[in-house]
Amino acid sequence: MHSALREVVDKPYDPAWYVTELVQCRLKHYYRLEYPLLAIQNVGLLNMRMLIGKLLHDGLELLVVTSDEAYALREVDVVKAVEIDGKEYVVRGRADLIVNGTLYEIKTVSKAMMNTLPYPHHVEQVQLYLDMFEGDKVEVSDARLLYVVLSDMRMIEFDVTRDATVNVRDVLERKLRGDEPTPLLGDWECRYCPYKTVCRVARNA
Ligand code: SF4
Repeated sequence: MHSALREVVDKPYDPAWYVTELVQCRLKHYYRLEYPLLAIQNVGLLNMRMLIGKLLHDGLELLVVTSDEAYALREVDVVKAVEIDGKEYVVRGRADLIVNGTLYEIKTVSKAMMNTLPYPHHVEQVQLYLDMFEGDKVEVSDARLLYVVLSDMRMIEFDVTRDATVNVRDVLERKLRGDEPTPLLGDWECRYCPYKTVCRVARNA
């Protein structure tokens, strides 16, 4: 979610698909373009829990990047163009950290969420980054999901092994064809969605 905040604030009108949008309810992509100010206002600036998560997230990244022992890159952008039905689409991603070739996606979670980690859509997000960094100038050899528990700053890591069957093109094609339920992840997705006040599906949920 933190990546979503940064992406939306950076480029609210960008028609590209973001990797974070590929692993969530597809309607969010279209609502971001239609209501960019709503996205900025609701996703980030008024949400205290997200701001705390962002501060933790940024602090952790800085700690690693300023360490002498690692070759580390912070917030690494990656872009991939894919063609579907004769039309070209741009997909953008931003990896939180790449340390000595290992990509890290950092998430903040509450203690109550600890027993259900890792979340499949987080694993899919990392898989899509691995797909996008293949052949990129920044070399990525492996990847990990790093969860930080908000209440006690505990860190829980999961290795993510590349699954070649997960790729940006196929996931985007699914989104464009509407072959997925909305919301995608469960009813809770609407509760935390910045577009719930304008979304007809949420209103009817
Ligand atoms: S409110 Fe629910 S259905 Fe509507 S865009 Fe958000 S997550 Fe999707």
